[in-house]
Amino acid sequence: MAQRITIIGGGPGGYTAAFSAAKAGAEVTLVESAHMGGTCLNWGCIPTKTLKATAEALETAHRLAEFGISGAGEAVPDMPAIIARKDKVSGILRGGLEKTCAKLKVTLLRGRGEVLSASLVRVHGAEGAVQEVEGDRVIIATGSSTLNIPTLPVDHERIITSDDALELQTVPKRMLVVGGGVIGCELAFIFQAFGSKVTVVEGLDRILPVPSIDADLSKLIQREMKKRGIACELARTATKAEVTETGVQVTLGPSPFVKDLPASAQKESVLEADVVLVAVGRVPNTSGLGLAEAGVETDQRGWIKADARLETSVPGIYAVGDVLGPARVMLAHVAAMEGLVAVRNCLGAFEDMDYSKVPAAVFTSPEVATVGLTEAQAREQGFNVTCPQSNFRELGKAQAMGELAGLFKLVVDADSGKLLGAHLAGAHVSDIIAEPTLAMLLGATAKDLARTIHAHPTLAEGIFETAHLL
Ligand code: FAD
Repeated sequence: MAQRITIIGGGPGGYTAAFSAAKAGAEVTLVESAHMGGTCLNWGCIPTKTLKATAEALETAHRLAEFGISGAGEAVPDMPAIIARKDKVSGILRGGLEKTCAKLKVTLLRGRGEVLSASLVRVHGAEGAVQEVEGDRVIIATGSSTLNIPTLPVDHERIITSDDALELQTVPKRMLVVGGGVIGCELAFIFQAFGSKVTVVEGLDRILPVPSIDADLSKLIQREMKKRGIACELARTATKAEVTETGVQVTLGPSPFVKDLPASAQKESVLEADVVLVAVGRVPNTSGLGLAEAGVETDQRGWIKADARLETSVPGIYAVGDVLGPARVMLAHVAAMEGLVAVRNCLGAFEDMDYSKVPAAVFTSPEVATVGLTEAQAREQGFNVTCPQSNFRELGKAQAMGELAGLFKLVVDADSGKLLGAHLAGAHVSDIIAEPTLAMLLGATAKDLARTIHAHPTLAEGIFETAHLL
């Protein structure tokens, strides 16, 4: 008899698992309580990149003279039309997923899933309808939601989440972004391009303070923010927010996360904004899932615990994606790969999920993309490291496109020549990072990259030129 797999959550972790299990011959039920595609398709990757595409079009329109085009009218963002386009893009992709479910005979159940055991899931549908699904294995892929903090009480109008930012019908004159991580920075660049005066508040002492992002890239993005007039308040935390008739007054204080702050950073200050965007983290979607009753262990913050094979503390119940929390990597393509690994394990394989070669892209302007070890991580791990670096502006294609900001940095083991990491900033580096990722997967050396013929003129030549510096 075919294996019966019940998957809870229709985001990239859940739908990738569902499609691969169905292709492998399993009987699959997919339970989704809101929209197919999850955060990624409805509130994350795709809507933000759709808005970013608009922001780039707007910026190009403002720079037409640089390309020798005269007579262009003044381009102005039309927020209702921009949001409608974003919804249209998400809708097209959502429809595609629903069609694939039908094509692969994945049973799609609408409702909230509750795990009773590895062989039973209860689905709470509309108007109190309850249904039970029997099976052999369960995969939990319920994802994450925005984290709210008491000091910044979200009212969805003046104090908003990233979900709300994707629905704004007007461009706020002044936007304060609390959180200088990936989501905060991406939205800061987008709204600056739309015309907001943006300030970013970050508790740590650098923008994009993510361990996988090389410090050189953080510096570059901070410089680009400054050039565009995005103000940065580093090593500061928002301690209070008060909604007034004219906006929101936010009190900033010294960060408890950074030691030896200069006297200037110790003082309290008050900033006023029309809208405060809270982008300080995510929480797991586990409420009502029945984890404790089923015996599925979570950590102190509620993220589900799973082993390297993605099996939870209950044999036969697996978990993938954001619901595993920041100790793994909270990205859509990681959720998808975890979905594939979990399905193979459900079907009898014994495979660990490998997190060592995960590319990550940040869609700021310019973009940032990384894979593997940063220079600091490689040194900490005792490698004898060499780090060739080149500037984006040296590329013919970059000059032709008028996209000059950026850099290529490779982290290479000087003893073996092997590529340990690649850290890129510049236009379209989110596409270019696939090359060093594959190179690392195949155990390639920097010399292999220098021997690979790259088409000219392309931005990927930056990898080739940088490898040649060794
Ligand atoms: P989700 O996508 O969150 O899907 C979980 C699904 O489960 C949801 O549809 C939810 O409705 C459903 N669900 C929850 N509980 C239940 C239940 N009890 N029963 C039934 N269904 C349930 N990642 C990238 O890789 N690239 C990016 O550019 C990127 N940009 C982002 C921008 C923003 C603003 C945000 C917020 C995130 C971004 N991410 C990005 C992260 C990415 O969206 C997540 O890593 C990814 O969506 C996680 O996938 P998932 O399948 O684990 O969960």
